[in-house]
Amino acid sequence: MTSAAAPAKLKHAKMLVGDKWISAARGATRQILNPATEEPIAEAPEAGPLEVDQAVAAAKQAFASGAWSGKTPGERSALIHKWAALIEQNLPALSELESQNAGKPLKLARDGDVPFAVDNLRFFAGACRVVDGSAAGELAGGYTSILRREPVGVVALVAPWNYPLMMAAWKLGPALAAGNCCVIKPSELTPLSTLELGRLALEAGIPEGALNVITGGEEAGRALTSHLDVRMISFTGDTETGRKIMQQASATVKRLHFELGGKAPFVVFEDADLAAAVSGAVVGAFVNAGQDCTAATRIYVQEPLFKRFCEAFAKETAKVRVGDPSRPDTDMGPLICADQRDRVEGFLSRAKGVRILAGGGRPKHLKKGFFFEPTVVAGAEQDSELVQREVFGPLVCVLPFRDEPEAVRLSNDVPYGLAASVWTKDVQRALRVSSALRFGTVWVNDHLPLASEMPHGGFGQSGFGKDLSKYALEDYTVAKHVMLDTTGAARKPWHYTAFGDPA
Ligand code: NAD
Repeated sequence: MTSAAAPAKLKHAKMLVGDKWISAARGATRQILNPATEEPIAEAPEAGPLEVDQAVAAAKQAFASGAWSGKTPGERSALIHKWAALIEQNLPALSELESQNAGKPLKLARDGDVPFAVDNLRFFAGACRVVDGSAAGELAGGYTSILRREPVGVVALVAPWNYPLMMAAWKLGPALAAGNCCVIKPSELTPLSTLELGRLALEAGIPEGALNVITGGEEAGRALTSHLDVRMISFTGDTETGRKIMQQASATVKRLHFELGGKAPFVVFEDADLAAAVSGAVVGAFVNAGQDCTAATRIYVQEPLFKRFCEAFAKETAKVRVGDPSRPDTDMGPLICADQRDRVEGFLSRAKGVRILAGGGRPKHLKKGFFFEPTVVAGAEQDSELVQREVFGPLVCVLPFRDEPEAVRLSNDVPYGLAASVWTKDVQRALRVSSALRFGTVWVNDHLPLASEMPHGGFGQSGFGKDLSKYALEDYTVAKHVMLDTTGAARKPWHYTAFGDPA
């Protein structure tokens, strides 16, 4: 390969529990690789139930003491703002770390993930001060009712590897702003930027125990998501892992917030701006090497435009610059690990009767790293696994459709429902189709952008609960009704109605 980023100094990472940096008591560690070079860049502890227990105890203690949950929203907001400012000051180093650990182009981390995470935190710092909805009122004869929104308690946050820092911010932002105390477990493949977020939170003055970071894989995740003292789990990851976590959480009836897989349709009508749709498809399909839950994965094109679209899309895909993520001209880096590349290759090798229009293998000019070419295929059947299941890599299929009802039917015909896009110049059609698509986000004439103020979350087997926006903040609180007698009169024995005392 062309020279990849110089190997970083091997870092011996530790986990954050309370205000202490700890290793795993049994001494277990995992090597953290740079997926572009396959070289280790750090070693991180592999937590077991013991460290998970310590982290949950630290969060429980912080919650019970009121050191964080007892602060006013204004006080919490000021500390989260301070934390966001420190993240912003550290943007170059954090972007580099994220790029090295996740293999994403430096420009994507520096211009996208890290600044967006800062904006997300600032949004939640502000939003937690807004008092929304009915606060108090006389709703039953002789009583005043007060609605309180309270933090849930100890919240477990389990994150994936595709956007490690941003996913941590999407979880920690609303959870902390609402007054919860958290234990976050980043993916075992990409723990480094989340540990840095923990360090900067302490530096900002967020009290010890409000934010704990545990590193490790499935064993640590299982211990955390089945822990008695955890009241809520916020999980982003694979739908299959979500099913397991649901079972692990069931014994203690925890609240769940799930952002799972996706299989986004990208629907191009014959009146669409072809050049805009093609460049939107290239970015939508191959951003972050296709390891994006909202990635365009099924490109449906209306028949009269199909051939022209395929030719232009294949041509533009061949121009995607794959290579060393640290180079400013790199558009696409490697996949996260060897297993993920095997997964993508497996989907392609099992696909029956497809035509490869672009890519299809490992780039010949790259000798190291988990790279795979941006790949476009045509001819896949709607009911094939390539169209139905999440690949999570740079492999996209293009399929024709006849008319609007068929486009809607094919788009909705998957178990997932996270994101979709519609490409047309006809505003009425855009409105009709965006309302008929059963997905949590629908773009018109674009694919991918998000806003801190708007909810992100799935329908169907893409999960439930919302990231971003005031809806996320609500998800991390519980509503409580406090009802006060305003008469001072003793209740007549056994004189009771559900609506208060009759006059
Ligand atoms: P994954 O499900 O393999 O792992 C996610 C996290 O769960 C990791 O931290 C892992 O260690 C942990 N984990 C694994 N088994 C566990 C268990 N039994 N109990 C508790 N924790 C466990 O997902 P991944 O491969 O890291 O990420 C890719 C997936 O994430 C894709 O499916 C993608 O669509 C999804 N994703 C969804 C969104 C969204 O907003 N919906 C965003 C990003 C990623």
